[in-house]
Amino acid sequence: MSSYTFREIPSIFYSSETGAPIEQCLLCERELKDCTYLIEKAYSNYPELNTSDLIWEYAICQECTESLKSEYSEESRRAIDEYFITHADFSLQQKLIEEGSQNIEQWLSKCILSGKPRSETRQYQIYGYFLGDLMLFDNTPFMIADDAIDEIVKLVSNKTLGFMNDFRDKHFPPPEDLSPLFPEKDFVLL
Ligand SMILES: [Zn+2]
Repeated sequence: MSSYTFREIPSIFYSSETGAPIEQCLLCERELKDCTYLIEKAYSNYPELNTSDLIWEYAICQECTESLKSEYSEESRRAIDEYFITHADFSLQQKLIEEGSQNIEQWLSKCILSGKPRSETRQYQIYGYFLGDLMLFDNTPFMIADDAIDEIVKLVSNKTLGFMNDFRDKHFPPPEDLSPLFPEKDFVLL
């Protein structure tokens, strides 16, 4: 039995620029205070240094999410959905709901698809759903680890991957002084 709850937005989902909740949809720029939206953030992780770098972050309103997803090929959408149905394990989320936990570190502590602990990843993405200034605690928030991102990238068509990467390059261009050590980041929009 699932019972969801809305709570104050944890600061990990705040804008890294303002240190406050993200105010606008990345695409249509509408104010988010009255709508439902999602936030995705991607990080490079350096477990040996006990640190991570934010790669990109954005909030997208429900409406824009729908229209973005309609850009995926039918085949890719089905492949992503099937991968989720087969692999997603929300038992951690359900347990934390039962415990009434709002400890965001626990919610994001392991990948819902591969089970890999966040502390062992080289890269990960976090997701949450929001209503105005509140966050939904249900099957979200969750974390996706590098191994699962790699699997999803393999599943989607070249056309869809091209679309995802164009989206990334348009909104999150790599630094000008691109170092050869700066790795190409795979991007998945779920
Ligand atoms: Zn929007």
